[in-house]
Amino acid sequence: MTGHDATPSSRIDTSKPHPARMYDWWLGGKDNYPVDEEMGRQLLAIEPRIPIMARANRAFMHRATRWLAGQGVRQFLDIGTGIPTAPNLHQVAQQIAPDARIVYCDNDPIVLAHAEALLVSTPEGSTEYLQADVRDPETIIERAREALDFTRPIALSLIALLHFVPDEDGAYELVDRFMDALPSGSYLMLSHGTGQFTRENADEADDLYKKSGITLALRDRHEVERFFHKLELVEPGVAVLDTWHPELGEPVEGQEDFQPMPGFGAVARKA
Ligand code: SAH
Repeated sequence: MTGHDATPSSRIDTSKPHPARMYDWWLGGKDNYPVDEEMGRQLLAIEPRIPIMARANRAFMHRATRWLAGQGVRQFLDIGTGIPTAPNLHQVAQQIAPDARIVYCDNDPIVLAHAEALLVSTPEGSTEYLQADVRDPETIIERAREALDFTRPIALSLIALLHFVPDEDGAYELVDRFMDALPSGSYLMLSHGTGQFTRENADEADDLYKKSGITLALRDRHEVERFFHKLELVEPGVAVLDTWHPELGEPVEGQEDFQPMPGFGAVARKA
């Protein structure tokens, strides 16, 4: 499924910062460019604890994946995967269920360039990568069908993705479109940045992103809850990231100094 088309939009643009690469820089990765580091530093000047939040976000993804694998979920569709950072979703899922099948998807060509790291599956399971935009659910669903069985439950994973998709781009309709395509017993797991607890910082960050041509769509708790309007939220509902089933993983160093963390996480089931 992995392939590289050489259209200009699929080339890595090092003249502008990209979310995947800034996030990689905050996590201490090496797959980023000076423009990403520069904007990453400017955002740190607004909120120096962003790296803690980035790690807490990864830790939420690990716990939610463990929880879902524990419920018997064996198929995952992860959109907005980001630059590989071990452990990736498939490593967490396959540690519990070696037969788990994962399809990864991102629209940033830098992720494609590092996709091999996402494709090291157990022999019993499978991992695939496709480059596509979440705003094109038809293409993603069609291509995901090649690797996943759409008659059996699938967990749609949107981790730190939807705050890059404004309402005008159809964020809510998109999520419904994906969930409508999945069978009963499927799940939605997501995490989402919020400005609810730190309004001033959020406005400043928003301006900075806008200058770089990136739309930031931070959402309050009730706006995040709307993504689940057709689904049954798993306890404790839409929760501050580090408070969602903390018993399923290790706490992130420094998170106790960052309360409440400006991000939500949740998992919900399709009846
Ligand atoms: N899910 C990962 C990475 C989050 S960073 C994690 O939480 O660790 C957000 C990711 O979403 C980036 O990799 C970015 O390239 C991707 N992204 C942003 N807008 C997107 C879109 N419209 N379609 C697909 N992916 C997108």
